[in-house]
Amino acid sequence: MRKPVNRFPFATGTTNRFGRSSLGGGLSTLNSNTRISIPAAGKSEPLPSGTRAGQGQSNLGLNSERLRAAMVQRLRNQGVQDEKVLGAMMAVPRHIFVDEGLASRAYEDAALPIGHGQTISQPWVVARMIAAICENRVPAKVLEVGAGCGYQAAVLAQFVKEVHAVERIRGLYEMARMHLRSLRLTGRVRLAFGDGMLGLPGVAPFDAIIVAAAGFKIPQSLLEQLTVGGRLIAPEGTAAQRLVLIERTGIASWRRQELESVRFVPLRAGTQS
Ligand code: SAH
Repeated sequence: MRKPVNRFPFATGTTNRFGRSSLGGGLSTLNSNTRISIPAAGKSEPLPSGTRAGQGQSNLGLNSERLRAAMVQRLRNQGVQDEKVLGAMMAVPRHIFVDEGLASRAYEDAALPIGHGQTISQPWVVARMIAAICENRVPAKVLEVGAGCGYQAAVLAQFVKEVHAVERIRGLYEMARMHLRSLRLTGRVRLAFGDGMLGLPGVAPFDAIIVAAAGFKIPQSLLEQLTVGGRLIAPEGTAAQRLVLIERTGIASWRRQELESVRFVPLRAGTQS
């Protein structure tokens, strides 16, 4: 069943170098869950001819494999090297995770609105975060905080045995469940409705944790739910944000590394029905 087309709430926005904003150059769902600066290589990578935005969903079915291959090539050009991550990005049809009206843009390197003021993360962000937690290892049990429409969880599930994903907005949790069901991934991805800032104490520890929304500080409860040797990646900060990669090195020790500047939707406590 296709979802109805939602109108964009950006009609009165301004355009800055990150895209169009409804807040006069500030945060919007068009520039959230993205990297702040993208290297020149790959940024203007053209899509294969005859497959540009504006074509209908019916054409997209036929073209989506070519579009995905172009997206994966762009990720390579942007420095993503992990073949299992690139393979997983190739395998998951990103266009089914967005509204029909946006499906033709699903393979651009952009975040897109998914409703409730949230976004599906930019493909580069998804690949970068997964590659960072998988460097030199394949985690067997991963927690994602902020499932949104379920895309990143679906990518993880291509090679991670046990994926747990938490979403705090009821409507998105249900949307993610529908998408994961349509890809027959509900066996590998256990979706939970709740406040992911608390983690999942009953399921912990995790070999890796990915946080898809930015808080002022990474919650200590999440750091405590890592296995020793486990890794967490999260955007940290409010106005200025950075991806932070943390490895648990002992029972009470963690090593921290700062990565790229990014812009994510906020990490919020509690749930929203
Ligand atoms: N992982 C998504 C990105 C979704 S955007 C993807 O595949 O593209 C980030 C999501 O984090 C939003 O849906 C938002 O509702 C959710 N979120 C924010 N704070 C949260 C919290 N405390 N617990 C769970 N989800 C949270």
